[in-house]
Formats: sequence, C-alpha cells, structure tokens
Amino acid sequence: MPEGDSLFALAARLRPILAGKTLRRTDFRVPRLATVDLSGWRVDDVRSVGKHLLIDVSDDDRRCTIRSHLGMDGSWRVFAPGQRWSKPGHTARAVIGVDDAEVVGFALRELHVDGRDDDGLAHLGPDLLGPGWDAERAVANLAAAVERDPGLTVSAALLDQRIMAGVGNIYRNEICFLLGAHPSTPIADVDTQKAVALARELLWDNRLRPIRNTTGLPGRANHWVYGRENRPCRRCGTAIARMAGQDRDRVTYYCPTCQPAIGSRTDPAPGRK
Ligand SMILES: [Zn+2]
Repeated sequence: MPEGDSLFALAARLRPILAGKTLRRTDFRVPRLATVDLSGWRVDDVRSVGKHLLIDVSDDDRRCTIRSHLGMDGSWRVFAPGQRWSKPGHTARAVIGVDDAEVVGFALRELHVDGRDDDGLAHLGPDLLGPGWDAERAVANLAAAVERDPGLTVSAALLDQRIMAGVGNIYRNEICFLLGAHPSTPIADVDTQKAVALARELLWDNRLRPIRNTTGLPGRANHWVYGRENRPCRRCGTAIARMAGQDRDRVTYYCPTCQPAIGSRTDPAPGRK
C-alpha cells in the first residue's frame, strides 16, 4: 500500500529517468487534461510530498507540476520505448515519454497539472519526509485538531493529511501499537509528541527500504499488528484482532492486551523495543 515512504522511494527511482530530460510525448487520459500537451517541455525534478508524486516541468517561460496521488491501486511504471505495458492500457491515466523511456501512471486516484507554487498541496500538514519537516508544527496541528473535535481518535488523527502528510493505513496501525493505544483512543489521551516522533522515525527508516519494516526485528517479522489477524502478538502472545473499516483501505489491526480500550488499561503502555 503506498504511504509516504513508498512515494519517496518512487520519486527517487523516477528522478534519474526523467530529471533533465525533454518530454517527447505526454498523454493525460482524464477528460479535464485531455488537451494538455507538454511535449517539448523539460523535466526539472521529481519529488514527493506526503502521498503525492510531483513531476516539475518547464519550458522557456512557463512552469508547471504534474501531480498525482496513487490511492489504493495506482502505480507508476517505467518501460523501454515501444515495450509492451505490464498493465491494461485502459487503466493508464498518464503517459510521459522521454527519449529512452516511457513512464506510465496506471489507475491513479488523482491527476492534476498545477502551477509551480504547490497550491494543490496547501491543505497538507508538514511532510514527514520533506526537507522542511517540522515536528512542532505537526504537534501544534494535532492540538488544534483536538480543539475542533475533542473526540478525534488517534486513528483518524494519524491519517489526517492536513495534520501531517505521509501516514497511511499500515503506519496508522503500527503507530497505535507502539503507543500502546487502542485505535479508537481519543488523540487527546495520547502523547502527541511521541506519536509524531514515531511517525517520522518509522517513515524515515523505511524511505528507501525495499521491504517495509516497523519492528526492527529480523527475518520476516516486518509488522507488529498490520495484516496479522489471529496471529500471536509479538510482545504478549495475544491473538491480534481485526476491525473492518468503512473503506477497504482502512482495516484496523490491534492487540487487545497491549492496546486496551479506554478505561480498561491495567498495565503501563509498552515501550518501543
Ligand atoms: Zn500484545
């Protein structure tokens, strides 16, 4: 599932393929962008902000940014010119051709061509992997969110990209475990500085890893709770529980012992290994 670290790695992979190159072909297969043609423009940079991929392009006096969000099923793939695509053509939303490669965005949830001032991202909180990462601002945003909604849960707060950008469903689950917090705990009852620090640490450590690991444990013990329904908790042995979410990308996993529901906590929260 693409989270902030996946996008960071994707930008790092596409940057050497696209940056500095002249676009030979662009084909945006969404109605709003059907007439946009950026062929002849140059790629200045490829970067990520939160869960968005940004391709900065310019010609002599104009600059714009191709911005996409993968959502649940989206991907960007790289092909040699003329190579057969590995995904169905009707799911392609963007085709970006340079002399020696064709970069195709499939099943993108969002695709925009913005001005270069990142207006389309103005709603986002600080980017967990960005050069301007600001933990204090993220903590302040959390405090402000609690003011607006005192019942805001730790789960909902972690996923709210306006507070900080980059956490997706896997990290949400893992951070709740590391906080010793049941996912429906009000964020007001959680150490928000620790929550922000954990989010940053986990995403940063994983930004270029081929396989995401939130546990620091060897072997294939990559997650504490995510995807581990009915399997024993790595800390206490209790069977991991699963709650279905409203959306299929919002499934929640937790340890009923390490993450007791509010009011039922008897032991101190487990510290991170
Ligand atoms: Zn446990």
